[in-house]
Amino acid sequence: MPATTPRILIAGAGIGGLCCALALMRRGFHVTVLEQAPQLGEVGAGFQVSANGSRCLADLGLGDELPQIATEAAGKQVRLWSTGQTWKLFDLGAESVQKYGFPYYLIYRADLHALMERHVRQGQPDAIRLGARAVGFVQDVEGVEVELENGERVRGDILIGADGVHSRIRRAMFGPSDAQFTGCVAWRGLVPREKLPSHLHANVGTNWIGPGAHVIHYPLRNGELVNFVGIVERSDWQVESWTERGSVDECLHDFRHWHDDVQCLIQGIQQPYKWALLSRQPMETWTVGRATLLGDACHSTLPFLAQGAVMALEDGIVLARCLAAHADDLAAGLMRYQALRLERTSRIVLGSAANAARFHNPLLADATEASRYVDREWNEERVRERYEWLFSYDATAVDVGGSQPARTTA
Ligand SMILES: Cc1cc2nc3c(=O)[nH]c(=O)nc-3n(C[C@H](O)[C@H](O)[C@H](O)COP(=O)(O)OP(=O)(O)OC[C@H]3O[C@@H](n4cnc5c(N)ncnc54)[C@H](O)[C@@H]3O)c2cc1C
Repeated sequence: MPATTPRILIAGAGIGGLCCALALMRRGFHVTVLEQAPQLGEVGAGFQVSANGSRCLADLGLGDELPQIATEAAGKQVRLWSTGQTWKLFDLGAESVQKYGFPYYLIYRADLHALMERHVRQGQPDAIRLGARAVGFVQDVEGVEVELENGERVRGDILIGADGVHSRIRRAMFGPSDAQFTGCVAWRGLVPREKLPSHLHANVGTNWIGPGAHVIHYPLRNGELVNFVGIVERSDWQVESWTERGSVDECLHDFRHWHDDVQCLIQGIQQPYKWALLSRQPMETWTVGRATLLGDACHSTLPFLAQGAVMALEDGIVLARCLAAHADDLAAGLMRYQALRLERTSRIVLGSAANAARFHNPLLADATEASRYVDREWNEERVRERYEWLFSYDATAVDVGGSQPARTTA
């Protein structure tokens, strides 16, 4: 580490921004996280964290506390929209730990966020600044300066744009993005367990597939809640936001011909939200001098491989390791980070998009044809091809070059 501790600015206190902040603090950096929201709240319901992500959380020193907030999924299954026919996809639980070293978790986003926030504040009480909306930045050979909406300027050595799909930092670096509406809308909501029949309490992730739509649901908070995500092809809603409310009736209408279990799940949602799914082509570069991007800001993806937040976690760990290993030349550290992350994240973005066609295939309209289709597309070999490379990635061990100093522990 140079004589003066490098000061790292992070725009955005989402899962990616907080992961990176914690990983940097654990390595001795001074961190300032600029978050636009006046307070950190509950957005986004639940998300799945596969072994490659829970490995990152363990590296942050959160491994012991995770079992208190996360549900360990026993497995995954596929169900057919019309008949409810069920196919076991794979075992998780002990198998995930045995194969990849870490569990497959189902986590209520606000719980993980709160845990990460607490650790960041414990490590550095002034690390997070709320109500601090970044609107642009400039850089020179000595550092970066972020401009906030209120006119204030905040100076640091390096800037990390972790400010999500609508990133202002990305816009300042590369201009407006090329987002295209995919023709799909995602419904999201939480269902209290008591509103569901017992066969829907199972501790598994379920993926319903059907022509033009699919549904994912899984338990959260030890099964007290079920997280519902329903993706449907429709073109009349194009707002990409965590906080746009919809109605149960509108959601029911989108899945009106689907199996009773799906109807039952939707009827139990307390407040459904809808999110228009936009896609962006993978970026060829996301680093300029002393500024780089992380998470959805540089590789937002359709949620069809459940890897968006997990990629943000991986980014945070790899980026912190790169900066620590190249502390004498931080800009070189940023380039190393980008080189390590571009190919994998692009492959995930493209793989997720390919899953839309797989999950929504017109062949699924007919139950007999659907059965053959599922046997083909979800056989053991195809599933291994699609998921093995994702779950086995180790962000804590990829070769970051440089001097690779020992990490400071939690
Ligand atoms: C329906 C759906 C289901 C999903 N399911 C999964 C899943 O199961 N598993 C998974 O891994 N991923 C999933 N994802 C993806 C995942 O939610 C995102 O990839 C993840 O939240 C990205 O994290 P992030 O930190 O990059 O961005 P965000 O979580 O969007 O955080 C960005 C932060 O930056 C702040 N910000 C924005 N602009 C500014 C600014 N100008 N200045 C300062 N702060 C700013 C925001 O307020 C926010 O706090 C899903 C997504 C959707 C839509």
